[in-house]
Amino acid sequence: MQETDEQIEIRRAVRALCDNFPGEYWRAKDRERVYPAEFVDALTDAGFLAALIPEELGGSGLSLQDACIIMEEIQAAGCNGAAAHAQMYVMNTLLRYGSDSQKAAYLPQIAAGELRLQAFGVSEPTSGTDTLSLRTFARRDGEEYVVNGQKIWTSRAEHSDLMLLLARTSPREQVASKTEGLSIFLVDMRKVLGNGMAIKPIRTMMNHSTTEIFFDEMRIPANSLIGEEGQGFRYILSGMNAERVLIAAECVGDAKWFIDRATEYAKAREVFGNPIGKNQGVQFPIARCYAQMRAAELMVHFAAQQYDTGGNPGAEANMAKMLASEASWAAADMCVQTHGGFGFAEEYDVERKFREARLYTVAPISTNLILSYLAEHVLGLPRSY
Ligand SMILES: Cc1cc2nc3c(=O)[nH]c(=O)nc-3n(C[C@H](O)[C@H](O)[C@H](O)COP(=O)(O)OP(=O)(O)OC[C@H]3O[C@@H](n4cnc5c(N)ncnc54)[C@H](O)[C@@H]3O)c2cc1C
Repeated sequence: MQETDEQIEIRRAVRALCDNFPGEYWRAKDRERVYPAEFVDALTDAGFLAALIPEELGGSGLSLQDACIIMEEIQAAGCNGAAAHAQMYVMNTLLRYGSDSQKAAYLPQIAAGELRLQAFGVSEPTSGTDTLSLRTFARRDGEEYVVNGQKIWTSRAEHSDLMLLLARTSPREQVASKTEGLSIFLVDMRKVLGNGMAIKPIRTMMNHSTTEIFFDEMRIPANSLIGEEGQGFRYILSGMNAERVLIAAECVGDAKWFIDRATEYAKAREVFGNPIGKNQGVQFPIARCYAQMRAAELMVHFAAQQYDTGGNPGAEANMAKMLASEASWAAADMCVQTHGGFGFAEEYDVERKFREARLYTVAPISTNLILSYLAEHVLGLPRSY
């Protein structure tokens, strides 16, 4: 795809910023499981995290394609955009369905870096992928909602001021369609932390700042509701297409990083008197990963373009996410193999990126669920669940 001069400049500027955060920085954060606040601050100060916010509200009003370039380049530079990507991907729900007063109240402050919107509370321990079975309930009480329940895997909650929360507002048995009765709220976590809301970190195999959140009679103002009560699932589905495309762009960036590192190493490492990259047994897996990455990249561009031109690319966003996460994971495995024993040594960053890249065939939606979406909604096969 031919990039515009502006997009080439975005790529260059992101890469220049990332150069200030080399492998040692990420290794230290990873070792201690510390949030990379300096990196997120730098992205915020440079305006990258406000890319999707319209210019009149203080952002740069860029397209999803531009946002993809930002996220891809972060990963391709060896950094970890997971520390900040939610601000990009939840933004869409607020932009498309938030009221003018909600947008005016929050977006300029988010764009200015005064407020962080980094948490997205959907997953629950008992419902898993079956989002429509979620149990967290928001009960209307006068000018407030009272929330009870629990979320799991709400990443970055400790490093965010705002959370987009999906909760049930009508019992499942009282709604005509099972996709109704769920609502989206923009929760100001600063006001409820320790006052109805508790956050508990979950330690994972990579540095991801993910958490469990418990709601116990948490009171939030009624005007936290986004759009119409009961329509939250519809809103979130549309936002999820943007989320999947952005994550797919990150996976393409990861794949590029693994392929670059493997290529460089295969040229430099000499065994039996020759660079290991002279052997086709070493070359071919790298070349195969390159082809796989380029194919995924095309689907990411296509899905983002469809989205930017007002389409609802459900199938393309899902395929982009599946193909790109598989391409990055294949490249991760290949990169370890190419490095031999050094693939396991911290100082090469390969093992860190390997652990980080593993997430994306599972989250934000697993490969099986994408395949079942394609089978049912695109191919017309019988519904399996
Ligand atoms: C590090 C991390 C960060 C995350 N961050 C967030 C976040 O910020 N916000 C948030 O809301 N969520 C977040 N998640 C949750 C993530 O979106 C879910 O883990 C993911 O969607 C899978 O859901 P699950 O873990 O409940 O798996 P389950 O639904 O329990 O599924 C387990 C396995 O069974 C398979 N499976 C389930 N049903 C079927 C079926 N019908 N057919 C075939 N296979 C099936 C799945 O593909 C999966 O492989 C995060 C998760 C992780 C690990």
